[in-house]
Amino acid sequence: MQRLRELSRRVEAVYGEIAETFSSYQQRQGLQCRSGCGECCLAPTIEATVLEMLPLALHLFDQGKAEQTLDQLGQLTEPQGCFFYQKLSFDGKQGQCTVYQQRPSICRMFGAGGYRDKTGQTSLSVCKTIKGDNPAKYQQSLIMLQSEPPPLMMQSKEQVNELDYQLGNKHYPINTALQLALEQVLFKASYSFEQDNQQIA
Ligand code: SF4
Repeated sequence: MQRLRELSRRVEAVYGEIAETFSSYQQRQGLQCRSGCGECCLAPTIEATVLEMLPLALHLFDQGKAEQTLDQLGQLTEPQGCFFYQKLSFDGKQGQCTVYQQRPSICRMFGAGGYRDKTGQTSLSVCKTIKGDNPAKYQQSLIMLQSEPPPLMMQSKEQVNELDYQLGNKHYPINTALQLALEQVLFKASYSFEQDNQQIA
């Protein structure tokens, strides 16, 4: 259990850097998310590794909510948006993250970030809502791709996932990744508990 906690602290340290890097770029370019928009969180295609969900799984464990959350996740019947997204509008497009401090890597890059295209050149990915809100700033950011390159999403994800190959080598839908992370935490917790009891006996 101690090893998972140490690993989680290292993941969180990288998360701090990722959030700072992406939000600085987005602010400089004027490509921030629309206030209260939660469209990314609604998408059933968001993925994360088990490692990326470790801080959240440990947080839920420390709050005594690990088993309950695992049960609730097990009852989800079809691919859907993130379990922790709270809808605040009828169509669900307005809402909020209820686990903001522990959100995984991908959520710290929502909105605008860089990627390598098929030719290996840096390209810019911007969500359609932001593009629609700020067409001139989007065009300006494209013009400035060389002088002001965006942070690369894949590179930041790798920065996290290279901290532990076993937990960080495979991507799952976000709710499944959390399920697997909770199972890891609960397994390690019960193992530590048994070891402690054996030492006392
Ligand atoms: S963890 Fe939070 S920010 Fe990330 S998809 Fe879920 S609700 Fe959205």
